Amino acid sequence: MVSVSEGETALPAEHKLRHPLPGAIIQIRIDEWLVASTCEIFGGFMALRDIWVEARIKETANANGSRNMSQMHLARQGVITEEMQYVAKREKLEPELIRSEVARGRCIIPANIHHKNLEPMAIGIATKCKINANIGNSATSSNIDEELMKLHHAVHYGADTVMDLSTGGDIPEIRKAIIQASPVPVGTVPVYEAISRVRRPEDLTIGLMLEVIEEQAEQGVDYMTIHAGVLREHVPLVRKRITGIVSRGGSLMAHWMEHHKKQNFLYENIEEICKIFKKHDVSFSFGDGLRPGCIADASDEAQFAELKVLGELTTKAWEHDVQVMIEGPGHVPMDKIKEQVDKEMEWCHEAPFYTLGPLVIDIAPGYDHITSAIGAAMIGWHGASMLCYVTPKEHLGLPNAEDVKQGVIAYKIAAHAADVARHRPGARDRDDALSYARFLFDWNKQFELSLDPPTAKAMHDENLPDDFYKEAKFCSMCGPKFCSMNITQMADAEGGHDQAERKQKFVELLAKVQGA
Ligand code: SF4
Repeated sequence: MVSVSEGETALPAEHKLRHPLPGAIIQIRIDEWLVASTCEIFGGFMALRDIWVEARIKETANANGSRNMSQMHLARQGVITEEMQYVAKREKLEPELIRSEVARGRCIIPANIHHKNLEPMAIGIATKCKINANIGNSATSSNIDEELMKLHHAVHYGADTVMDLSTGGDIPEIRKAIIQASPVPVGTVPVYEAISRVRRPEDLTIGLMLEVIEEQAEQGVDYMTIHAGVLREHVPLVRKRITGIVSRGGSLMAHWMEHHKKQNFLYENIEEICKIFKKHDVSFSFGDGLRPGCIADASDEAQFAELKVLGELTTKAWEHDVQVMIEGPGHVPMDKIKEQVDKEMEWCHEAPFYTLGPLVIDIAPGYDHITSAIGAAMIGWHGASMLCYVTPKEHLGLPNAEDVKQGVIAYKIAAHAADVARHRPGARDRDDALSYARFLFDWNKQFELSLDPPTAKAMHDENLPDDFYKEAKFCSMCGPKFCSMNITQMADAEGGHDQAERKQKFVELLAKVQGA
């Protein structure tokens, strides 16, 4: 296997994708040296996985239908793949740690062998907290360019994965365009496409589902939400709830089971799905079809009954060396968030927990990126590995590109807050660098170090636009006479102290953060 070299050539942080958006550049948040070494070794942008995967396909050529291309399979054979090495560099962890976590199932690297322009990343308790952005159309709004613009915003502002939740128009074409343009893993919910191919939900069959799953796997989808944990016996449990079943996939499966008076066909055919997944290395994102849709319904019998089944399904998938993460709620008040993580870890054998929010209150439509980011920060702190964003449009309409930006920024804040609270090595460096810039009145560095520099600068410049004010020892908040940080510096000076030590520490931190 080829390993990524330690080439140090500096490249700009922005580079074009192999399949760029027309006239657009997606900013990749990746270590510059890694991009440089990729280009150096393989002679072009993002060609690395072509070579890695081709070599593996040759090695397994005789396995035919029974080949297993999953990262977990290789990890369990003791192999440190190129993807694991790549992830280790991004995370600043040892490759062997990544391998052992993937082998153990506590970490996944969603990396379908057909998604060649992917920049491998990892989701797990040992690695930084990740965020997902949902994009995709609905039956009332369908436009490939709009979806690609959402992808651009999502990746530009820092989404670690995207899910294409398209339910209308030419679903395979939209997905193809998204996979080709996306450097981050792409997830889907295959039942949405299956539903688009039948007249009524009750017409769904396992044959159709397997067909859709195989087609999506061949196209390069990295992980799929499979609602196999909602069982027939769970359906009566939701009748006491205020909002019933709020997962689209969960409600469709409940409808199908009640109509046919039969068990969930995804649960009964999980082995067939595993066979497809391991051939292409698709990861399970076991769907929480019974997640609570309001805080009153959180942590109820229905939700936890399904979670236990997800643990059982995890064991089955791991018998095939198929990678798994577990989806979680939803709407949960703050006092019940820790319990969610504890139960998931216990019942699902520490498979990575991938949660939607959760929203901690229900009375703020239009601001649910905030209500949910509070819960997301808490659940990330307690141990969730990936946070699925919620946009301001949640419950109200399909998000547009600006909503995607707002949702991603809110979740970058939540995930970073979780990493800081978990004391991940170096997680606070950028915060400390920005704080030094703030105290030393280096306004331009303060903007640069912020999550959304243009917004920070625009807000500052609203009242003090001139260049002169980029070194001013105040801003328009307190004005020149009442700037407490300037007054502190004056007090220091009167006591015979200058700012040399702070300046030195700032320079050192800056080098660390910018060289990261
Ligand atoms: S004026 Fe107030 S808000 Fe502005 S930099 Fe000084 S202390 Fe901070």
